[in-house]
Amino acid sequence: MSSKIANPVSELPYPLRDKRTLEAGQQFRFACHPGLDCFTDCCANVNILLTPLDVLQLSRRLGLETGDFLRRHTLTPFTKELQLPVVVLKMNDDEKKTCPFVGDQGCTVYQARPWSCRMYPLAMALPPARAGQEPEPMYFLFEDDFCHGHGQGQDWTVESWQANQGLAERDHLEEGFRRVVTHPWFIGGRQLDIRRMDMFYTACYDLDAFRRFVFDTTFLKRFEMEDELIEKLRSDDEELLQFAFRWLRFALFAEPTMQVRPDAPASGRNP
Ligand code: SF4
Ligand code: SF4
Repeated sequence: MSSKIANPVSELPYPLRDKRTLEAGQQFRFACHPGLDCFTDCCANVNILLTPLDVLQLSRRLGLETGDFLRRHTLTPFTKELQLPVVVLKMNDDEKKTCPFVGDQGCTVYQARPWSCRMYPLAMALPPARAGQEPEPMYFLFEDDFCHGHGQGQDWTVESWQANQGLAERDHLEEGFRRVVTHPWFIGGRQLDIRRMDMFYTACYDLDAFRRFVFDTTFLKRFEMEDELIEKLRSDDEELLQFAFRWLRFALFAEPTMQVRPDAPASGRNP
């Protein structure tokens, strides 16, 4: 099994341990196009961790509510090593374990393809949170035998590859997610309880359910929020996702990212 993996929380994941690291500015030569005999070989038997933005974009691309997308297309493996729930794209139940979105002409959801598909042949890992230190991402180069794009085309750096793959323009949302999963609260291996894990899962991944939590409960009566922001949250998915990360820092780690109204009613249900 090959891997397109971004692990945001724990120690270096096993598939990255023997991979070449890439420092800032270091180059690699790579090209990926339909003319290669390996075209789409990487789209099967692969672990793809989905970021919150991946789930949102794929759901919208497929015309599904986020909850329906999660039920149909993802798995949430649970192991003791995971500090937080992760969401993995479910491969087809065929011999090759093909991605449900691969077609003869390539990726059928190309504009909404996941973060790790855009990154490949690169991967990124974040070290565990440490007091007083911003976690510095580490970058790795996969040099899988099945992938014949290495040594072809032009030279790239991590930065130029990310820009070419449309990753730079969505980085502010991925950054909001990274700030939650690498929060100093986790220093020393602290674990969220099940209720908070559910809150994290819903706010990060099931954005339509999170929107109902904001608008169909006492939420707006409990927190000081500007009218302009409230209006945006009704229809702007990316604004709502950004807000979900802000709310999680308040709800999970007691950061003062939200202000409770003086006349707030008792807290309602969690998302
Ligand atoms: S989402 Fe697209 S690029 Fe990613 S594995 Fe599936 S078909 Fe390939
Ligand atoms: S070059 Fe690598 S990434 Fe591109 S299609 Fe071939 S196996 Fe996949």
